[in-house]
Amino acid sequence: MTMKAQDNYLLFIDGEFVQASTEQSMTTADPATGTPIAQFAAATSADVDRAVQAARESLSAWQANSPVERGRIVHRVAELVREHADDLARIESLDQGKPLDQARSDVDDAVRYFEYYAGVADKLEGKSVPRGSETFDMTCREPYGVSGQITPWNFPLSITARGVAPALVAGNAVVVKPAPTTPLSALHFAELCREAGIPDGVVNVVTGGAEPGAALSSHDDVDQLTFTGSVPTGEAVMKSAAETITPVTLELGGKNPAIVMPDADLDEAAFWVATGIFTNAGQICSAADRALVHESVYDEFVDRLVDRAESYTLDAGVDDPDMGPLNHADHFETVLDYVDTGVTEGATLETGGEPLDRDGYFLPPTVFTAVEPEMRIAREEIFGPVLSVIPFADREEAISIANDTEYGLTGGVFSRDIKQALRLARDIDAGSVYVNEWFGGSIETPFGGTKKSGIGREKGVEALESYLQTKNISVNLDEKHR
Ligand code: NAD
Repeated sequence: MTMKAQDNYLLFIDGEFVQASTEQSMTTADPATGTPIAQFAAATSADVDRAVQAARESLSAWQANSPVERGRIVHRVAELVREHADDLARIESLDQGKPLDQARSDVDDAVRYFEYYAGVADKLEGKSVPRGSETFDMTCREPYGVSGQITPWNFPLSITARGVAPALVAGNAVVVKPAPTTPLSALHFAELCREAGIPDGVVNVVTGGAEPGAALSSHDDVDQLTFTGSVPTGEAVMKSAAETITPVTLELGGKNPAIVMPDADLDEAAFWVATGIFTNAGQICSAADRALVHESVYDEFVDRLVDRAESYTLDAGVDDPDMGPLNHADHFETVLDYVDTGVTEGATLETGGEPLDRDGYFLPPTVFTAVEPEMRIAREEIFGPVLSVIPFADREEAISIANDTEYGLTGGVFSRDIKQALRLARDIDAGSVYVNEWFGGSIETPFGGTKKSGIGREKGVEALESYLQTKNISVNLDEKHR
C-alpha cells in the first residue's frame, strides 16, 4: 500500500476517521511554494471531548494486555512506520519543508522511539521498601490514564512518536493535537497504530489551531499533559493545567550557546556549529543559536563558518537540498524581522539575510558577527537559520555570557583539552551539553531544559517518569491485633 498525501483529512477518534462537529476546515500549504496541499478538519472543544472520552473508554482494553503484549503491539508500530518510511518522509518533507533526507532521519527516529520503548514495556518495575519485620512495603508504577499531547511544527512526526511511545507502553491512552501547519504525518501515523493492533481509542489525533490545544490543556478528564512549543504557549498550558491540577511536561525554546575555545579544532567546530544552526533551517529548539568564540580565534572561525554557510544549497525539501524553506509565511516574516533587528542593532551581517527571489519561504544561512550579548538577536529565540557570533576574552566571560539567558535547553563546548571541556560542560546551565559535536544524545538519552526551557525530560528511560505515577502499598504483618 502506498501512502500519499490526500486532499482532505478528517479527525482520528476512536480508531476511525470522523468528521469534526462543524464543517470548518483549515489548509496546510507547501512551504516551498505557498500552494495548498490539503484541507484538514478544525477540531472544536466538542471534538476534543469526544477524543478524550474515547481515550478514557479505551483504557481498560489497553491495560488488559500484559506488558509483554503491549510491548509487542508497540513494536509492531515501529515495524509499520519503517515499512512506510519513504512515504511518511515524503509527506513530512512536503508539509514541513525539510529536506527529504532529514525527513527520512526523523521517520527513523520515530521508528526508534517505538522500538526502544517497546523493549521497556515489561521492565516497569516497582520497589520494596525496607520498613522492619512487621511491615511489607512495596511500590508499583501505574499509568496516569489519558495523556494529552500538543506538538509543534518543526519535527511533527518524531515529536509525536517521542511522546506517544512512552505513554503507550506505560499503559496510557493519548490524544494528540498537532500544529496547524503540519498535521499530516500524525494522521497517517495514527492509521498505522490502528493497523498495528492498538485498540480503538488508545491513539486519537485532533487537528486544528489554538482552540483544540486550549481545550485539551484545560480538559478535566485529561490526566497528564505533554507540550512542546513556545514559552508563551507553554505558560498558557501550565496555567490551564493548574486549574485541574494536571501534571505537565514542557519542552520549550532555547537560545543555546556553543563555546569555541582557542585550542578547538576550528574546522570541526565550524562544521558542528553550522550543522547546529542551519539544520532544519534553524527551526530546532536545541539549535546552536549563539557561537561564543574566543577573541584570539574569532576571525579564523568566522571565515570557516561563512565558507560553510555559503556552500548550502536551498530548494524545496522534496528535492533534497541542504536546506529547505521556513515552515510558514508568518514565521518567515518573524525571522526576516530579526535579520532587520540585527542590522539596526549594529551587528555585522557577514552573509545571508536576503530571502531568495522565488516563491516559498527561503532564507539562506545567515551569520551576524560583532554581536553584543545584550542585543535582541543574542537574547531571543529566532528559530531560523540565523547565527549570532559573540566574542569573549576568557573562560569566566564565556560562561557568564552563556548562562545570561532565560533559557537552558542545550549548550556546547569545543576544546581539545578534556579538563577544560568538562569544566565548561559542568558550568553551562542547560539540560544537555555537547562536547566537540552538536545534537549529541539520542533516543536513549534524556532531553529537556532548565529555566524557561521547560519541565521534565523526554527520551530515554527517564521520559517514563512523565507517564507513570508511583503507588505505595504498605502491608501490616503484625499479628498482635488479630
Ligand atoms: P507554539 O507554542 O506556537 O505551538 C505549539 C502547539 O501549541 C501547536 O500545536 C499549537 O497549535 C498549540 N497551541 C497554540 N495555542 C495554544 C493554546 N492556547 N493552548 C494549547 N495549545 C496551543 O509553538 P510552535 O511555533 O509550533 O513551535 C516552535 C516552538 O517550539 C519554539 O519555541 C521551539 O523552541 C519549541 N520547541 C521545543 C522543543 C523541545 O523539545 N524543547 C522541540 C521543538 C520545538
